[in-house]
Amino acid sequence: MTEYPPIHAPSRPDWSCTACADAWPCNTRKLQLRDLFQDNTAGLVNYLAQYLTDANLELGHLSSVEVSERFVDWCAPGAGRATA
Ligand SMILES: [Zn+2]
Repeated sequence: MTEYPPIHAPSRPDWSCTACADAWPCNTRKLQLRDLFQDNTAGLVNYLAQYLTDANLELGHLSSVEVSERFVDWCAPGAGRATA
């Protein structure tokens, strides 16, 4: 019997994680995506940007700026780290 690791995918339309129920992309998914894209920040941003249109429609309680921050801004090199 093989246990597959849970896939941290978005549950829509509320965009919570199907595996851990955190707001998607959750921290686990972010780590997986960083691992997947390595230093290819542009590729990572492009990948996440494809979700923005749907997320903006479905997350009506968030502004487009908030949606963009949640989905894309963490991709920037150094994002989430304290600035010196
Ligand atoms: Zn998750």
